This record gives sequence, structure tokens and C-alpha cells, in this order.
Amino acid sequence: MGERTLLTNARILTCNGDPVEKPTAGSVLIEGDRIAEVRLDAEFEVDPAAVRVVDLHGATVLPGLGDAHTHISWPLDFVFDHGAVAATPEGKHLLDVAAVAKTYLESGYTLIIGAGATQPDDDLLVKDAIDRGILPGPKLIPCGPMIAEAGGLGADGGMMEVVATAADLREVVRKQCERGVRSLKLFISGDGVVPQFPSEDIYMNDEMLTAAVDEADKYGAFVTTHARGSASVAMAARTGVRIVHHACFLDDEALAALEARHGDVWVCPGLHYLYAMVNGHAGPWGITDEKVVASGYPDEFRSQVDGLHKLKAAGVPILAGGDFGHQWTRHGTYAAELQRYVELVDMTPVEAIHTATRNMGAVTGLRVGQIREGYLADLLIVDGDPSADVTVLQRPELRRAVLKDGAFAYVNPEVYP
Ligand SMILES: [Zn+2]
Repeated sequence: MGERTLLTNARILTCNGDPVEKPTAGSVLIEGDRIAEVRLDAEFEVDPAAVRVVDLHGATVLPGLGDAHTHISWPLDFVFDHGAVAATPEGKHLLDVAAVAKTYLESGYTLIIGAGATQPDDDLLVKDAIDRGILPGPKLIPCGPMIAEAGGLGADGGMMEVVATAADLREVVRKQCERGVRSLKLFISGDGVVPQFPSEDIYMNDEMLTAAVDEADKYGAFVTTHARGSASVAMAARTGVRIVHHACFLDDEALAALEARHGDVWVCPGLHYLYAMVNGHAGPWGITDEKVVASGYPDEFRSQVDGLHKLKAAGVPILAGGDFGHQWTRHGTYAAELQRYVELVDMTPVEAIHTATRNMGAVTGLRVGQIREGYLADLLIVDGDPSADVTVLQRPELRRAVLKDGAFAYVNPEVYP
């Protein structure tokens, strides 16, 4: 039996799937790294000599949050300068990356999925340090360098791995997986922000993606795609890609292909990023209104909001996350994504929270994202009620503590002692 901790006098948001769940008074017994028992509307009788009792004084406890599209390579002061980040001396860069990992944890995030490393081993090195307990940070599904098709978006920048055939791609996937990568990131569409490569461009083909998915599967890894245009989304859906990032444009074919996977494919849109871009938040960093209009992002944003309503109605699971780290979507503001889901996609606050909790458990296969017996005790404790106002999750002063694997991994120094 591991160490036992009782969180008492709590208000528990279990994330059991009810879209209008309200926090219930109760307590959570943790044994080792797991939730041993949850009592709603009831307290435990325990021997304080045998159990560490932590009185939460009515604070809300919910599952730790997750972000499914993470670039820990982008330092806290990142703007848009990928090349400069790639060229930063490795030691300095790794300390920048460590600060980002710590920021995720302190923001209530206990699980992140890598979406592309700028220096090739960023995710792997940081994951190793976190798992050894020498660096504070969330659980991390590591990514390696992104993978582009020769001639396609990203192929010329010197930061991605470039492939031309299914055999090439299989080999790159195999090599990344051998080194420990578990989230592969493939570029299969353009991006309006780079005008020569519009979002409706499509790269790679069914044979290549099928090979990548098959090879990744041998290692318990999965394939994710940058896919903005509808043809690329449809291709990702029909070839077994697990996470479709962006999915800005959805025609009937793309929607049908996603629906046909029956909950076995997840969409991670990066909605707050587009929202911030089209609302001028990047202006102070040189992304002028003219540049935003030239990128086509205003149309892309409207289309993405429309598509998310359709995905929600069709029951295609949606994940939270997306390219946080720019100065206009700063590290630490990750939960803004949930606010956008409430405001723009008509999710209830709890449905929005599900995109960062129970859906993250489902997509990774980890027993996380719910407060439930046998699940890992990865938990967030906040003042206030995020089921009534999801912006509570963005306010550092309301964050009391974060538990990871049953242990207190972050305690807010402004709150304690
Ligand atoms: Zn990204």
C-alpha cells in the first residue's frame, strides 16, 4: 500500500460525462498514485496517524487539465521566430523548455501531447527529466521533429524531417519511435499564414499515411496531422490518424469520414489561436490587420467555428489545445481555449472542461481525466466553480494546488502558508 492522502471538505467535479455536472461536496482518498475511493455527500472516518488529511475548505477539485497540441520548444518569450529558437545553443534552449514545462504544471496541466519539437530531442529530454522527478512538469506524450513532404509546407525550413514516399515516411516514423517519440506530427496541408502554401493544399497521400499509422502502432505510438483544408481532414480520418489538428474547413466528405471513425479520431482545432489572430491580438508583434486578412484567417476562423458546431452535433470528440506560446497566446493562458469553446461553440463549461480532461484520457489511453476509483490522482484544486464560470481556470490566484500521481506537484506560494 502506498502513502495515503485524504482530500476532505472538497467540492468534487468528477467529469463523469454529465455536461451539466455541478461540483458535489465530498472527499477523495488517494493511495499511492491512484484514487482509491471517492465519497460524494459523505466524509471518511480515518485515523489521522495513518492518513495525511488535507482540508480543502470548500475548494473545487477536478481532474488535472490536458493540452493536446503542445510545443514546449517555444520559450516563454516566443514570438514567431522558429529559426532563432532552432539556432539557440542547446543548453540555454533546454532551460527555456524546462521553464515552459513548469509553466504548464503550474497552470493546472498534468498531461500534454507534443505537436512538434523545434530542436529534435526537446520533448524526449524534458519527459525524461520530468519522469525522473528532477523537473516539475506534466505527463508528456513526446513528439519529435515535424514531418513534411518534399515540396510541401515546412519542407524547406531545415527544421522538419522531409519524406517523398511511403517507404521514407515509414522509416522516419520507425526511427522517431525507436528514440521514444509517441506522438508523430505530419504536415498534410498548407496554412494560410504562409501564402505560398494555402490551407486547402494537400500533401502526402493515403498510402503514406496508412504506412505511418501502421508503423507507429507497432510502438504504441499514434499519428497526428496538421490538416486545415477539408481534403486533408478527410484523408487523415480515413487512414487512421488519431488526432486531426486544426480541421478548419470541413465539407460533407470530411465530416462523414470523421463520423465513420465512431469516436476513434479526435479533433484539436486550436480555436483560441485563430480567435486571437483575427481579433488583432498579434498586432503589437507585427502581425498587422493586412497580414491577417491576407492569410485568409478571418474566413478560416468563421469556418472553424461552424465546423466545430457540426462536429459537436455529430459526436466527434474534441480536444483542448493549440499552439499556445506566442506572445498573443502566452504560455500559462492555456485554459483560454475552454472559454472559446463556451463562447463560440455553445459548449457548457463542463463540456469544455471535458475536452481537457476525460477526452484526454480517452485519446491517450491513460487512466486520467476523471475523478474515479482506480484512476490516477492527477488533480487540480481551485477556488471558485469552473462549472459555472470556466474562466476560473485561467486565474492563477485561484489555483491552490496540482497533484500528479497522488503527490502535490505544485502548491501556490501566494495562497500558502
Ligand atoms: Zn502547432
